[in-house]
Amino acid sequence: MDKPNQYAQQCSFEFFPPKTEQAADNLRDTINKLAKLKPGFCSVTFGAGGSTREKTFETVVEIQENTGIEAAPHISCIASTKDNIRAVLQAYQAKGIRHVVALRGDMPSGMMCAGEFHYANELVEFIRNETGSHFHIEVAAYPEVHPQATNAKADLINFKHKVDAGANAAITQYFYNPDAYFRFVDDCTKLGISIPIAPGIMPITNYTQLSRFSESCGAEIPRWVRKRLEMFGDDRLAIRAFGVDVVTELCRRLLEQGVPGLHFYTLNQSEACLAIWKNLGLESN
Ligand code: FAD
Repeated sequence: MDKPNQYAQQCSFEFFPPKTEQAADNLRDTINKLAKLKPGFCSVTFGAGGSTREKTFETVVEIQENTGIEAAPHISCIASTKDNIRAVLQAYQAKGIRHVVALRGDMPSGMMCAGEFHYANELVEFIRNETGSHFHIEVAAYPEVHPQATNAKADLINFKHKVDAGANAAITQYFYNPDAYFRFVDDCTKLGISIPIAPGIMPITNYTQLSRFSESCGAEIPRWVRKRLEMFGDDRLAIRAFGVDVVTELCRRLLEQGVPGLHFYTLNQSEACLAIWKNLGLESN
């Protein structure tokens, strides 16, 4: 890599809102460790159907106030009304938040009401109409195709609708095959999409959990990776060491090709991200 620090500026970390006081303390510890890497921003997820609305708000405000790092709430439109979203946006504006990740979200099982928005492009349009250029809006992108998309082309066109509605940047679903990402970005360029598309990076620390996530979100775990992870069984240390190697190599390839940044799905843990960071030689930033 020629200029590692140039990339480090634009890396970001994603957290989920803690459910207990103990989890909140653990998250503070994680954030303090990762904040030393000077990420461009940190984002906080939003539970399916709005189940974590208040916790997302509290966590975002705490990160920005305590660390000075820009914090971005995820806002999902599933089961939300325009009035709900308007109130949420106003609350974030009042706290000096200027960055959001706008998503459709997924319907929690048993919930029937989709709300007033059907797709994320409608949410992006609403945020722009309500708040002008106040927010830097990130949206989701799917190099391996969203699981509910009719086909890859339709998914790409739907992604473009979010950009046309006013998204400033995108973060991808995680993947372990960088060629899927490079091809996706090429296809976007051909369609005239020029916003930065940061790869989403999922460290590998727990095979059972990763398998479950990957099945639901359509991210492919390559066979050779899966076979090795299966072979390690309950040996968590071996899984972590192998996972750090695999994900470091993935990040290295992405950085060498000039990606606009890396967005780490931390799962509220710092260890794997720190190890990958160190391997990449970004630690001195
Ligand atoms: P959309 O862009 O609306 O797309 C959803 C599906 O609908 C796609 O298949 C798309 O092709 C299709 N589509 C879009 N527009 C149309 C249209 N006009 N007509 C027909 N089909 C259409 N989920 C959460 O609940 N909380 C989170 O905090 C969260 N954070 C995430 C962060 C990132 C970076 C990513 C990649 C995902 C995140 N998710 C989160 C998951 C996300 O909510 C799901 O993947 C969801 O299924 C799709 O959200 P979206 O914003 O991509 O939806």
